[in-house]
Amino acid sequence: RETRLLALEQRYCSHGDTVHYSEPKIFDRCQGSYMYDAEDVPYLDLQMWYSAVNFGYGNQRLNKALTRQLDRLPQVASQYLHAEKIELAATIAQHAEKTWGAGGRVHFNVGGSQAVEDALKLVRNARRGKGTMFAFEGGYHGRTLGASAITSSYRYRRRYGHFDRALFVPFPYHFRGPKGMDKEEYGLHCVKQFERLFESEYNGVWDPKAGEAECAAFFVEPIQGTGGYVIPPHNFFIELKKVLDRHGILLVVDEIQMGVYRTGKLWSIEHFGVTPDVLVFGKAITNGLNPLSGIWARDALINPEVFPPGSTHSTFASNPLGTAVALETLRMVEEEQDFGAAVMAKGAYFLEGLQYLQRSHKVVGDVDGLGLALRMEICEEDGHTPNKALVDRMVDIALAADLELDGRRHGLVLDIGGYYKNVVTLAPSLLITKSEIDQAIRLLDLLLTRVTR
Ligand code: PMP
Repeated sequence: RETRLLALEQRYCSHGDTVHYSEPKIFDRCQGSYMYDAEDVPYLDLQMWYSAVNFGYGNQRLNKALTRQLDRLPQVASQYLHAEKIELAATIAQHAEKTWGAGGRVHFNVGGSQAVEDALKLVRNARRGKGTMFAFEGGYHGRTLGASAITSSYRYRRRYGHFDRALFVPFPYHFRGPKGMDKEEYGLHCVKQFERLFESEYNGVWDPKAGEAECAAFFVEPIQGTGGYVIPPHNFFIELKKVLDRHGILLVVDEIQMGVYRTGKLWSIEHFGVTPDVLVFGKAITNGLNPLSGIWARDALINPEVFPPGSTHSTFASNPLGTAVALETLRMVEEEQDFGAAVMAKGAYFLEGLQYLQRSHKVVGDVDGLGLALRMEICEEDGHTPNKALVDRMVDIALAADLELDGRRHGLVLDIGGYYKNVVTLAPSLLITKSEIDQAIRLLDLLLTRVTR
């Protein structure tokens, strides 16, 4: 059966998606932290569908919310109302009121990229059609035309002609930053470099409105996702926001990958002491069941006077299945005693394991983490030169389930990120157990030994 399916795939499926392995794999079922193939070999999943399945595969509470809605009201045309859409918008907006004291509204869409498009429309509208944005080198915001235009990697855009509408600014990637500068200092340095853009354009003549003439907004991921789970210094966004405020530039925070408790908070920007003007979410808000995405924006940008009926629309936006699961996801976390603290504790424990791997294997150049967003950067034996070939081999061996632990065959689901595609980006289930983390570290240890011996 598998041979037949793979032959059909070779002939009939587009190969346009990004893949990071050499041999394809067909999965058969999933449960908890594991994917299983047709022979029932377990693959401990350390990426959870690019951080879309934060609450584990087969989460009974969320699956039930989906089937309940499926039986009662699975379809409503998007111009009509249903309770789940309203309750979800209110929950997200009230969280913003509580956290930042900021009033705002929510607009839904289906996938992450589409929500980024809505954010682009919103800030262009607010800045009278200004279509240029700032974004970070190494940033990723999706693959629709507008979202790829603000995604830094040229290879995502080069086939489709020029529609570049972004200026890319360095992100404080400390491990690859200048030698001898500490992390906080490097953050400040990057902010200063950014502000120099405004000074030089006006020949040193200070014009507080200069930025407004140039760009409408700065699109940021608080922690870079596809860019390699790079965590900026603590003070970075506070300093950056001061510059944005001086120049009238809006801050759009993309929480599609790092949101929904991946870092122990509902939104990862909550670690960094600034209030966004627009926030974009998707992926894990429905635990990867029935896609739903959206934007939250401050009232000034999204109130019906500036964003009136007909401003944007998608048939499946605010669909009842997605909104019902998303609402249940947020309620489930709310009912837990300090869910965020538990994520932080598991993250710290996982990071200790990664630090052990770094001590035991010269090729592990850097490890870091915030909550359960963790990184392991694979290098040459000098511990610094990026080694993509090695990480590719790790992914292939892991996906071939060519690892043996306690007398049983095991696989791992790993993903790769980073400028040089040499970073193992780790986003395990937030419900992962301590013994599963131990297993992850043992399997990664075996894998590193295999590729370096
Ligand atoms: N922004 C970020 C930060 C992402 O990680 C992603 C998906 N990897 C997107 C936007 C695009 O979302 P989607 O793939 O659902 O369109």
